[in-house]
Formats: sequence, structure tokens, C-alpha cells
Amino acid sequence: MLYTVKETPHFEGKEILFGLDESSTNEEIKEKAFQLLKKIRSMPAGTVKDGLPESRVIDFCLLSDGFFYFIASKGKNLHKQLMDVPYIVLSERIERWYSIRMLAHVTPIMDKKVWDEFFLYNKGTASMYASNMHLLELFKLDAGEGEIFHLYADERLKRARFAFGGMEVKPMNYTINDNCTACGNCLEACVERAIVEDGDKYRISHMDCNDCGKCYVVCPAEAIDCRLYSEEWHERMMKSLELND
Ligand code: SF4
Ligand code: SF4
Repeated sequence: MLYTVKETPHFEGKEILFGLDESSTNEEIKEKAFQLLKKIRSMPAGTVKDGLPESRVIDFCLLSDGFFYFIASKGKNLHKQLMDVPYIVLSERIERWYSIRMLAHVTPIMDKKVWDEFFLYNKGTASMYASNMHLLELFKLDAGEGEIFHLYADERLKRARFAFGGMEVKPMNYTINDNCTACGNCLEACVERAIVEDGDKYRISHMDCNDCGKCYVVCPAEAIDCRLYSEEWHERMMKSLELND
């Protein structure tokens, strides 16, 4: 089978990551993410069933209170899964070089005003279920975290994370701590050029980081903290580096 060769995106001189940068606030990133999700509207959504993932396409609707909503029929697996584990994950590509993902907590909503507003934008479903509204559950994505991702040059990226409703922004896996001796090993190893000098130490620019872990395994000073750490994981990483030498 033949594949199309992936073209190199060129954003030189153009806006990268919709103009978001390290100075952007959580609110600004979240606002951009919500506008993108609003435009996409229908997208794949994953849940968990007996420890295994399941997905289907769901139509999400951003209402005037600033939250997304969707409906599920009470007879469906989706409804049962969300009542058991009230979380949903979404991810979608935008245009060619952007993507967005979000993990959200969901809560069933009874408020008639919200139902009325939701069905203003979903007239087909409203007429289909007109005499069977009791079969439906309206869910609100009331808290969550996510990320907008932009591949803007040959394998180079920019990413911006956000959170809402009391959930925390998901931290990146690697961070440089105060043990840094500024030896420069990580700077040399990082293919994303995400390591930057910061006074007499180094730091990771998380907007540029691919979370690959190479800096972590080349650091001689235990100066990089890893959220994934386990002996077994570390051994696997070392082995993969040896294989690449
Ligand atoms: S490899 Fe470790 S000690 Fe060296 S500059 Fe990077 S973080 Fe600092
Ligand atoms: S995790 Fe990978 S991409 Fe991120 S700073 Fe380290 S080496 Fe660079």
C-alpha cells in the first residue's frame, strides 16, 4: 500500500499556535480551545467500559453559561458508562496541523431552562424525542483539562494546556529542579530545542516540549523530575537509547 508523503508545514512568519504563547493566561487558552471545539461541534468521544476504552461521535453544544452539553439516551452503553465513570475524553484534528484534546467530568442536568436552550440548537433531536424526553439524559461537561497542539514545522511543535471548573492543568512529565549544574547535556539531547538557559540554570519551555524523556535520561545530576518514574520505565528508556546509538 502506498502512503502520501507527509508534507512539511511552514509557518515561518505566520501565527503559531493561534498566537498563544508563554504569557497567555489559562482563561485565554481555554477560551480559544472552547471556540475551536464549538466550531467542530461533533467529535469522537471516549469512555471506559470494564477497564477498556470505547468511543463514538457525539454532538456537543456550547450554551450561554459557557459550558458544553450533550445528550445520551438512557438505554445506551454510553449512558451506563457515564453513570459508572463520569468522565469523557475528546480529541480531534483541526485543519491540517492542529489538534485539540480534552478530558472532562460530566454531570447529569435537570434544569428545564438548560434543556430548553440545548434543544433550541438541536431541533431534530427535540422533535424525534418529543414524546419520549424521559429517555434522554442531558450531561454537562462541568470540569476538565485539555490542550491545543500545533505541529508548525518539521516535527517541531507548540502546545498550550488549560483547565476549567476547578480541575488543574495537566502538568508536563519533565521539569528541571534546583540540582541543575548547567552542564548542557539536556540542551544537546533535546531534538525539540525546548531546553532554555535561565540565569545560571536551565529550564524546559513546556510549550515546545514533546514530553519524550530524553533530557531526563542524559542528565548526570538527577536534576530532572519525572512524573512517570519507575525503575522498569527507566530501564526501558535506557535500552531504547542504547538501541538508537
Ligand atoms: S543535563 Fe541536568 S544538570 Fe545538565 S543542564 Fe540539563 S538539567 Fe542541568
Ligand atoms: S522531554 Fe524531550 S522534548 Fe521535552 S525537554 Fe526533554 S528532551 Fe526536550
